Parts: sequence; C-alpha cells; structure tokens
Amino acid sequence: MRLDEEEAIASMLEKALDPLVPYPGRTDLPWKARCMKCEAVLDPGLTLHNIRGPQGGCATCAERGIDPTRPGYLYLVVHDGYQALKWGIANIDQRLTQHVSQGWQVAARWNFELTGDAWALERQIKAWVRGQGVPRALTADQMKYGGHTETAYLTDISLALIQAYVVSLTDRNPEPPQTA
Ligand SMILES: [Zn+2]
Repeated sequence: MRLDEEEAIASMLEKALDPLVPYPGRTDLPWKARCMKCEAVLDPGLTLHNIRGPQGGCATCAERGIDPTRPGYLYLVVHDGYQALKWGIANIDQRLTQHVSQGWQVAARWNFELTGDAWALERQIKAWVRGQGVPRALTADQMKYGGHTETAYLTDISLALIQAYVVSLTDRNPEPPQTA
C-alpha cells in the first residue's frame, strides 16, 4: 500500500509518534520515530502498516494504558520507602493501582477531557524539574510498572512545590480525593 508523505505523517502524529527521519516511502518499512508521550525512541521503529493497525503506536505506552484521544489524568504519587515522588499521566485507573501495589500513595490528580492535554503538562513538569538540576530518583529496576524517568527525591523537590507548580500551570486545584 502506498501513502503520500503527508498522509503518512498524519498517521504517525495520530498515534503520538514524532518521525525522526523522512518517510521511508512504504508502509512495510520501519520508520524511526520518537514517542511523544514517553519520549522513547522507537529504533528502528514500527512500520506504518502496524502503526495504522488497532494496536499501533508505542508499545511502552500501550502497556501503560495511555490513549491520547480519551479522557485521562495527570497524577502525583509519593513513596515513603524511597522518599521519592513521581508524576505521570494515564487514562485508566489501573495505572494508579499498579503504582499503589508497589507502595506508592496517590497525592494528587487532575482530570482532563483528553489525555493528550495532560502530556504537554507532563513534559513541562519534567523540563521544569530537571531544569533545576534535580536528577531521577529511581532506576528502571525499581519500577516494576515503568515510569522511573518521571521521579525525583523529596529532598530535591517537595511534593508541595511540584503540586503548586501544576496548579499554576492548570489554574486548577487537584480533584478531591476519591472514595473508592
Ligand atoms: Zn511511549
């Protein structure tokens, strides 16, 4: 199947993939791209044939249950044992259940009509935190369900500070605690 380049790129963007090289010209050739959600580089990449299929897109994010076109949320969780916090986005509550099962506690969440709107914020938070020289707190090994790139030690940045930053970005307080 042949697609013109514009249509091909549109298919990538629809799945939140940012092409890093020109369209290879065929839907059965891998196309190197960066996931706009988790920023992983898919190298050599998925083929457009797969990307346009029902499971298309970044496998890591599919595992994390993130769909940009559905409602979702931005969350903050803290871990007493690690003395660390983590921010992230998701559109299914199971994501928080995964973290809670690993000892994280939900500190705050902000709901969004489109999970895509939460991405930009997630990336802004990361840029802001790392811009202050705050390193990642955890390694991939310590995060059974992934997401270690969005962690920081509470001694480097407090929960109150990061929450205030999100409030300043969204102009909204976190959702009231849920009684589940
Ligand atoms: Zn991804």
